[in-house]
Amino acid sequence: MELSRNILLWASENQYLLEHVPNYRFVRRALKRFMPGEELDDAIGAAKTFQGDGIPTVFTFLGESIIDLSEAVKVRDHYIGLLERIAREKLDIEVSVKLTQLGLDLSTDHAYENFKALAIKAKELNNVVWIDMERSSYVDATLDLYRKVRKDYSNAGVCLQSYLRRTKKDLESLIEMSPLVRLVKGAYNEPASIAYPDKEDVDKYYFELSTRLLKGIQDNGVRAAFGTHDTDLHRKIMKVAGDLSVPKEKVEIQMLYGIKPNEQKRLAGEGYNIRVLISYGKAWYKWYVRRLAERPANVGFVVRNIFSS
Ligand SMILES: Cc1cc2nc3c(=O)[nH]c(=O)nc-3n(C[C@H](O)[C@H](O)[C@H](O)COP(=O)(O)OP(=O)(O)OC[C@H]3O[C@@H](n4cnc5c(N)ncnc54)[C@H](O)[C@@H]3O)c2cc1C
Repeated sequence: MELSRNILLWASENQYLLEHVPNYRFVRRALKRFMPGEELDDAIGAAKTFQGDGIPTVFTFLGESIIDLSEAVKVRDHYIGLLERIAREKLDIEVSVKLTQLGLDLSTDHAYENFKALAIKAKELNNVVWIDMERSSYVDATLDLYRKVRKDYSNAGVCLQSYLRRTKKDLESLIEMSPLVRLVKGAYNEPASIAYPDKEDVDKYYFELSTRLLKGIQDNGVRAAFGTHDTDLHRKIMKVAGDLSVPKEKVEIQMLYGIKPNEQKRLAGEGYNIRVLISYGKAWYKWYVRRLAERPANVGFVVRNIFSS
């Protein structure tokens, strides 16, 4: 299992595969399970359906590692247009961005200015903008940028990963700022020196960090979003939330489009605060292969699409 995960994570970064795999029709067919379509309108259509079921969403326009400033500015402007459209159409959609898509590989200043523009627009429109967490080499820069932005923009959130050994310290360093934190397990290939190699440890640490976040909701005005499909963890988190008298609506679960959709509806029906992340855009290859790596059995689903018409 670990081997197939590592092979898939390697494949997610391979240039040859990046250039060729997206051209296969069966791969594009299988992709539909994880995203409603490449276009923004596809994502908006899906968000409206979710909203009809009482489930708000978060949007990510796929892309990462941009090294051309004009491209990063285009991404920023895309998100600004999106925030305006969300407000115009009165939709409950937040946005989540990757800093390397806003120019972090060029300079932290470029990423900061581009992200700040999004935080300003989101604040003006009463919306929230999240920062995804990318591979470990970006964590310091991402958290520094977040701390800087968070001073002026209480509508900005950041993602933390429980596979990284450092995350407890990072969380403590943020908690006084009443941050918006989305806790995930982590989706990249990281060395054991900095990340727990065993899933069991990642899950245990996730629970420990969740407990800290739940206390932070009560004591520090944290907004905590638990970004996981792990129903065992959902149950444990809800139990601790109950013990700490954290109101149900403050226990926010975020899940990805296409993964455990029935569970998403069930949680929403039971009054939990559930938000679904919808991705769209043409640059889906790396993101998609990371989704396959999370559950290598998904590859079987892709292969089955070779034979479907
Ligand atoms: C809202 C959201 C935002 C995220 N943002 C980031 C980010 O910024 N940075 C980052 O590194 N990672 C991010 N992730 C991905 C995250 O790190 C994990 O890789 C991913 O969520 C899978 O782990 P899990 O917590 O669901 O637990 P797991 O233990 O991996 O999965 C629990 C169960 O969920 C189901 N499941 C999980 N993944 C899949 C899948 N791909 N296909 C089918 N079933 C699946 C399976 O039934 C599995 O048994 C995000 C995840 C979510 C939900």
